[in-house]
Amino acid sequence: MTGRPKVLHVVGARPNFMKVAPVMEALAVRGLVQQRLIHTGQHSDERMADVFFRDLGLPRPDRDLGVGGGSQAEQTAALLVRIEEALEEERPDIVVVVGDVNSTLAASLVAAKAAIPIAHVEAGLRSFDLSMPEEINRIVTDRLASILLTPSRDADLNLRREGVPEEKIHFVGNVMIDTLRRHRERAPWPEVGARFGVEERRFAVLTLHRPGNVDEAATFSRILDRLEPVARKLPILFPVHPRTARRVAENGMEERVSFLKRTEPLGYLDFLALMDHAAIVLTDSGGVQEETTVLGVPCFTLRDNTERPVTIAQGTNTLVGADGRDLAAAFLEFERDGGKRGRAPEKWDGAAATRVAEVFERFLGLS
Ligand code: UDP
Repeated sequence: MTGRPKVLHVVGARPNFMKVAPVMEALAVRGLVQQRLIHTGQHSDERMADVFFRDLGLPRPDRDLGVGGGSQAEQTAALLVRIEEALEEERPDIVVVVGDVNSTLAASLVAAKAAIPIAHVEAGLRSFDLSMPEEINRIVTDRLASILLTPSRDADLNLRREGVPEEKIHFVGNVMIDTLRRHRERAPWPEVGARFGVEERRFAVLTLHRPGNVDEAATFSRILDRLEPVARKLPILFPVHPRTARRVAENGMEERVSFLKRTEPLGYLDFLALMDHAAIVLTDSGGVQEETTVLGVPCFTLRDNTERPVTIAQGTNTLVGADGRDLAAAFLEFERDGGKRGRAPEKWDGAAATRVAEVFERFLGLS
């Protein structure tokens, strides 16, 4: 139908899909805008992309830009060119970007120069660590966005401190948690436990993919040293991110990681089932810190900082250092008293995407 304003969503990598799905659904139910979905192809294979479209019921992308790997610069350059072509043809009224990946940054740069308003879902998060590519992406995207949709109060504060005008900041809550709440019951436990030979609360789940943790063999190896004592107590299931798999192969570390129960990256529902029934989760992922907080599963984050401090203050997250130096102490505490329980932060209630839709409709003069 023409005449309705056009909202165009840009996704590119695994952590984008679970954030855009509830927003598209909330807008579709309300029916006041037309929507377009562009998939940049930053992640494009079955395990990092296709399975999420199926698991989350995402519509098929209207455009698939097919921009694959390359260095940070090569990838960003290719994204800029292809997204510019797409936006020139689509001419949307709002471009929606989510999270902090290179596709988020590229779409923001292109949209800002074309004078198309940008809405950033998951705005305001800051690790204050510019050595992370994601932090650069967050800062630039927020600087260019007209609608900044924040998941937590700390994000509002960060934006205010950076001088973002109050009227651009909208505390809507966490859309990724909308997805988790919607799909938790469907997650296939105990089947997935049986598939991997693990029992309820008698295993750990590990994800590792931050460049700072896995790119250098020496750093990665130090982390593995810290994980070995945990693995003697609990089997550690490790769905290996493609970047990490590449590093393991390049650095000849196959033998070194053999004490971990490795698998291919998992689909959303399988991975959710595992997190929900694990004893603990070990990770350097952003999203996993949030999901474990809502699931009430202790999460040990292999980083020195986090852009999601609410998961530490209110949730189940503990920072154990990028090299895992505090893991032994944290694990001991878990063995002693079961670890942090935590509670869901404000507006992590399953209705964040509806609030996003309301903000868009006001912005577009529809309500
Ligand atoms: N995830 C998944 N399968 C896996 C590992 C992670 O479905 O094998 C999900 C996880 O539950 C979360 C998202 O992927 O929803 C997090 O993505 P990732 O860790 O790649 O990115 P980050 O959050 O660190 O940006």
